[in-house]
Amino acid sequence: EDQSFPECQAQELFDEFVSASTCRAAMRSFSQLCEHLQLDPSTAERPLYRPIKRRLNYWRANGLWAKLDRRGAQEEYQRARACSDVTCVIIGAGPCGLRTAVELSFMGARVVLLEKRDTFSRNNVLHLWPFTIHDLRGLGAKKFYGRFCAGSIDHISIRQLQLVLLKVALLLGVEVHVNVEFKKLVEPAEDQHRHKLGWRMEVSPKNHPVSQLEFDVIIGADGRRNTLPGFRRKEFRGKLAIAITANFKNRNTTAEAKVEEISGVAFIFNQRFFQELRQETGIDLENIVYYKDDTHYFVMTAKKQSLLEKGVILQDFADTELLLSRGNVDQNALQAYAREAADFSTNHQLPALDFAMNHYGQPDVAMFDFTCMYASENAAMVRQRHGHQLLVTLVGDSLLEPFWPMGTGVARGFLAALDSAWMIRSWAQGAAPLDVLAERESLYRLLPQTTPENMQKNITLYSVDPTTRYMNTSPLTLLTWCQEQTCGYHGVNVTDLTTSWRSGLALCALIHRYRPDLIDFDSLDKSSVEENTRLGFDVAEREFGISPLMTVEEMSSVEEPDSLSMVMYLSQFYQLLKDSPP
Ligand code: FAD
Repeated sequence: EDQSFPECQAQELFDEFVSASTCRAAMRSFSQLCEHLQLDPSTAERPLYRPIKRRLNYWRANGLWAKLDRRGAQEEYQRARACSDVTCVIIGAGPCGLRTAVELSFMGARVVLLEKRDTFSRNNVLHLWPFTIHDLRGLGAKKFYGRFCAGSIDHISIRQLQLVLLKVALLLGVEVHVNVEFKKLVEPAEDQHRHKLGWRMEVSPKNHPVSQLEFDVIIGADGRRNTLPGFRRKEFRGKLAIAITANFKNRNTTAEAKVEEISGVAFIFNQRFFQELRQETGIDLENIVYYKDDTHYFVMTAKKQSLLEKGVILQDFADTELLLSRGNVDQNALQAYAREAADFSTNHQLPALDFAMNHYGQPDVAMFDFTCMYASENAAMVRQRHGHQLLVTLVGDSLLEPFWPMGTGVARGFLAALDSAWMIRSWAQGAAPLDVLAERESLYRLLPQTTPENMQKNITLYSVDPTTRYMNTSPLTLLTWCQEQTCGYHGVNVTDLTTSWRSGLALCALIHRYRPDLIDFDSLDKSSVEENTRLGFDVAEREFGISPLMTVEEMSSVEEPDSLSMVMYLSQFYQLLKDSPP
């Protein structure tokens, strides 16, 4: 009995950790567990769960160890030695920062993760592609969160996703520091004893021990307002797009269980629904998505005019920041608007639409401006000072912001996390920096056009190696599709995703293929470059809801149009039209 007592206590601490429902509780129980087992994550063997496993051999934990062992046996990890000499810093414990941390730990890297807050509070729900569900299951998601993707569910609240990944990261040995904010990079220098110091960082609070840490890689995963300098951000200014998210309490009654989800109704395909909604309620939407999760979650894009008419927005301003500023929004009217839209679109079947509460104890409804979307021009760079190299890279929203109502969720974020981990692996294994960067950038060009359909079919084989996930590691799928759609049109010859589109004819042909009623193709003049482009832009925006990502002049100029913008623009046609008959 005497002997089993500490073991019992370890099991209790472990259970507490596994079932912890907040970031703070998970952090607390994990550090108690480590203390109890006399393990120090910064010096212990990696991945950390191995020494834990040796000390905590009981049935509840064993299921999890088996999962992690299976995952850790992936060849690319080289038994946790692929990156064992590398120290990585990750900024931000959002889903993408955490997912990157997990991958790097499996490869044996030392991973230090900073998070400026100590709460996970977003009720909003992310769509998961089949591969992300498989990926998370393989990391033991179901052990931490029993309801994870039960039945046909293919989504999860941001909060739960962070919690699952935090626990996996901790078990793998990621050193997580909450309430620590990254401020800036500190260049290599000599200290007062003429010691050469490598790359470090300044954090808040200022005297925190991580500010002494020297590292080789830094990963910006701090969300859309990224803080790492040196990356140029591209701004895609589309037409005005105001998204509303709303979360209602889910009491899990039978009546609620019966209500059907709405997983993305693109407006051109369901105009009647939106017309009826407008006629009956005065609410004018471009799209709406509903997921039944911990909460009843809705995301919709609303037209400005109807928000003004319904008194949600008080005064009209051309400037969107002003338009959506706190003082110009009537919160009660916003709640009523969201509730009415939710009620109508679920056919009045949700019995009580009571708002869930947000982090501030307020009804969880919010408006976001998607008029401007951001993407970084580059995915990675190498900096060098006084002989010290630093690999700098971005993942998640810092790299490429998702348009929420489109339902890509966190899938592209996870792909970029894996791609970055792959790059760090190549770099750690001594590949030339320029080659490493070139490969990373070419994978980044693929990212905006990936869909579950154009990726490798066998998701059970996905790993950190990009060839297991992407069908072609060049943007061929999109190009091939564009070629097929525009084939046979006079004066159109698509050979790439940039200069072939300069005359505007290819764009008009693409639209004409699906909607011959919208453009009289034969009347177009090849030399009226700007007119053709303008026509294509306008029709696509009006009829398909696809906003141009560059000006007419940029697309038709003699210089090559920007390739990332073109890929992002044309991908939207591909996603919208690929399954509909021409
Ligand atoms: P994030 O999830 O944004 O995480 C970034 C993390 O970095 C945060 O935890 C932040 O506290 C931390 N951080 C920032 N700066 C620093 C710093 N200097 N030092 C240390 N830590 C720092 N997507 C949808 O598809 N649908 C939605 O309804 C939806 N709702 C959202 C609501 C809100 C309020 C926000 C912010 C985002 C929402 N998103 C939504 C986006 C979605 O959360 C992200 O796409 C997804 O979480 C992946 O993001 P990420 O991991 O790259 O960054």
